[in-house]
Amino acid sequence: ARGLVKRFGGRRGIFDSSPTVHAVNDVSLRIARGETFAIVGESGCGKSTLGRLLLRLIEASEGEVLYEGQSITALSQREMRRLRRDLQIIFQDPFASLNPRMTVGDIIAEPIRLHGLARGKAVQARVTELLGIVGLRAEYADRYPHEFSGGQRQRIGIARALAGEPKLIIGDEPVSALDVSIQAQVINLLEDLKDRFGLTLVIVAHDLAVIRHMSDRVAVMYLGEIVELSPVDPLYEQPLHPYTQALLGAIPRPDPKDRAAPKLLQGDVPSPTDLPPGCRFHTRCPHARQLCQEIRPVLEDAGGGRGVACHFWREIAQMETATTQRAR
Ligand code: SF4
Ligand code: MG
Repeated sequence: ARGLVKRFGGRRGIFDSSPTVHAVNDVSLRIARGETFAIVGESGCGKSTLGRLLLRLIEASEGEVLYEGQSITALSQREMRRLRRDLQIIFQDPFASLNPRMTVGDIIAEPIRLHGLARGKAVQARVTELLGIVGLRAEYADRYPHEFSGGQRQRIGIARALAGEPKLIIGDEPVSALDVSIQAQVINLLEDLKDRFGLTLVIVAHDLAVIRHMSDRVAVMYLGEIVELSPVDPLYEQPLHPYTQALLGAIPRPDPKDRAAPKLLQGDVPSPTDLPPGCRFHTRCPHARQLCQEIRPVLEDAGGGRGVACHFWREIAQMETATTQRAR
């Protein structure tokens, strides 16, 4: 993705004076084949919008998305349809995304028929196979979505996403509506499927704890921007951006002495209709200075495949190291 921007609303007429929502602001990123890439942030940070922009389920206001080297932004809807097989999404609320009047079998068969992947009896055989792949019984094909638990419904959603034999699946908070005990099962399933079918996964999440063990890289978003981009382990071991540091400080730790006391976030996320100037995070950042209110930091190379958008990240990293050592 290059320079993606998404604005909503902003019409000013007699009957409609909705302010512009700046949902995604100048996001560029590259996702490698076969990796699990997580997009993380609080609600309203633009992460779901970014996920939809990547699949072109919504149109970008500016910027473009390339898939296997080809810009998909300029494709006609008809050309896009061929790509839809490759690019699938699973949603947070599997119930809302499954048609209640269709049987599970028909829901999963739909993409198989749409893409002409099987005909006649072979469709049913493929539905049975897909149900098995996601750990559901073949008889479930004749039942309706409301007869299933949240975790089972998410498995149905995953079976439908797999039906087109995709290369990339975006999961938009795929487990956040589920009981904690079920979350791990669905995450394990996604990881297994990724290995088995060589998928690329993009997981949108608001919770850094959930994605730690399944992700290769993580993009942390705040108010529509990527503030930190990093391979997963260094991000958790030494978060560079003050916002990431605050998010990680909010994860309960088994041993409270294993790190300096976390700085909790002050105040609320500002409205995306009224973005703060300069660094979007300055209204909540414990390290903010005058410069932060004036100049917007861009994502800069921090080495080791990491990027961070903060004017003072080097100093802050040194301070953090010093505090952590004192705390030990
Ligand atoms: Fe905080 Fe300033 Fe860095 Fe923004 S640029 S994260 S306000 S120190
Ligand atoms: Mg969302």
